[in-house]
Amino acid sequence: MRKTEVAKRQKMFEAQRLLILEDSTRIRENLVSRPEDKDEVDQANAYIEQSRLMQWNDKARKQLKNIERVLEKIQKNEYELCDSCEEEIEPKRLAANGLTLFCIQCQERLDHQERAMRGARHIVH
Ligand SMILES: [Zn+2]
Repeated sequence: MRKTEVAKRQKMFEAQRLLILEDSTRIRENLVSRPEDKDEVDQANAYIEQSRLMQWNDKARKQLKNIERVLEKIQKNEYELCDSCEEEIEPKRLAANGLTLFCIQCQERLDHQERAMRGARHIVH
């Protein structure tokens, strides 16, 4: 990938990062508003809203971690290297998803591990 393209992406990811940070600040402010002060219907709605926000927050945190890792890699000039095996990530793959951290082989392995872990948890419950 050309340096100019990487630099363009870096700017884009930095902007995304800022947006997520702003959003999660707003969400934290919403979460601290006390549902106890409202009537029953409002309270129920507030709880639904809170769990929705918390779910969003969870997703945003993961995304933020992903973006921060990518920015770190760009700074180290390792943007195109797999986080696991340190081989080069397929250019097509990186072009399709700029936040990719792993090459296709490692990603498949990780997906498989994650599925196996989820399966194991199912048995436990
Ligand atoms: Zn790899």
